[in-house]
Amino acid sequence: MEQPISVTRSNFNDWMVPVFAPANFIPVRGEGSRIWDQENKEYIDFAGGIAVNALGHAHPVAVNALIEQATKLWHVGNGYTNEPVLRLAKQLTEQTFADKVFFCNSGAEANEAALKLARKVGLDSGVAGKSGIVAFNNAFHGRTLFTVSAGGQPKYSQDFAPLPNGISHVAYNDLEAAKAVINEQTCAVIVEPIQGEGGVIPADIEFLKGLRALCDEFGALLIFDEVQTGVGRTGSLYAYMNYGVTPDVLTTAKALGGGFPVGAMLTTDKFAPHFSVGTHGTTYGGNPLASAVAGAVFEFINTPEVLEGVKHRHQYFLDALNTLNAEYQVFDEIRGQGLLIGCVLKAEYAGKAKDITTWAGEQGLLALIAGPNVVRFTPSLIIPEQDIDEGIARLKRALAKLAK
Ligand SMILES: *Cc1c(COP(=O)(O)O)cnc(C)c1O
Repeated sequence: MEQPISVTRSNFNDWMVPVFAPANFIPVRGEGSRIWDQENKEYIDFAGGIAVNALGHAHPVAVNALIEQATKLWHVGNGYTNEPVLRLAKQLTEQTFADKVFFCNSGAEANEAALKLARKVGLDSGVAGKSGIVAFNNAFHGRTLFTVSAGGQPKYSQDFAPLPNGISHVAYNDLEAAKAVINEQTCAVIVEPIQGEGGVIPADIEFLKGLRALCDEFGALLIFDEVQTGVGRTGSLYAYMNYGVTPDVLTTAKALGGGFPVGAMLTTDKFAPHFSVGTHGTTYGGNPLASAVAGAVFEFINTPEVLEGVKHRHQYFLDALNTLNAEYQVFDEIRGQGLLIGCVLKAEYAGKAKDITTWAGEQGLLALIAGPNVVRFTPSLIIPEQDIDEGIARLKRALAKLAK
């Protein structure tokens, strides 16, 4: 058999469109919360593929679901339905507020569907000009033109003008500011229960409750973007459950497939019929392969053992990080829920989050940033305590470099 083509990190610069600047090593294999690169160097994985690899790498539950479905049926197109997608829809609707599901392949697509649904509901309402969307500063909703426009980080949208209009942004967690822009012309409010990319900033409960009340008052859809917070990440199946505030639409992706691309938009019987035959669609959405893997991952995560385990690991992480911080004094605040944790750098280390993750990589630890001043961890929901210990030991060596 022919050898595979040999490739190195520098080939990224040769052949890849330069939208990313990946680390200077190439992971080739993973098991649980450990990864190995081309040189067989081992890394502890506190990044989890950006809140995606909820069961770590090569978990038998996901692998077996994939292999079993791979030998049966991968794709049929949406002229036919399939068994795995119907089973997954049953799981999602039984376990959440939702009655109906639209499947797609990513978080951005799930939000795109949610925003388009809101515009359609607004149109069908008969209220003239009911197309306004209210979103929040610093939010992240994906990279399609509509979702970067809804996102609250102009650096991701401004180069692509003209942008879809009718979207207003106000400060996150500022209910008065939201009140000032939500009116009869608003068709949707889109919000992350915890801003992930924006710096791991949890919403205040009164803020979400207030948005719910305003949406009810003005007939707007409340959309919760749970692409990052969903599927057990916060220790509940979905973060809205922690807040006791129920949205009209919820988007989920990332951890849903445990690493296999899949996304979904969940909604109720009140709004789903507005997406009538032909109004929206996707080629791959709801394909049997993705649905089978997601069904297995979802079933595994949605148990008291796994969800309680996330809460337990949260505390375990926090204790370890606080101990580290007592020694090095680099973080002002350590925040988040479950295994979505953000460490906010002290002012004197502002802008150094990326350096810390680079040094962590040298020490054999994968970690993330959430903006220039926040180091973020979104590991596997079932990461073993000994891997947390080892990862923290490696983080300690990276922080030592910063502190000196
Ligand atoms: C990652 C993310 C998205 C985008 O998901 P993609 O799968 O990258 O399209 C949207 N919203 C939130 C909150 C996210 O964290």
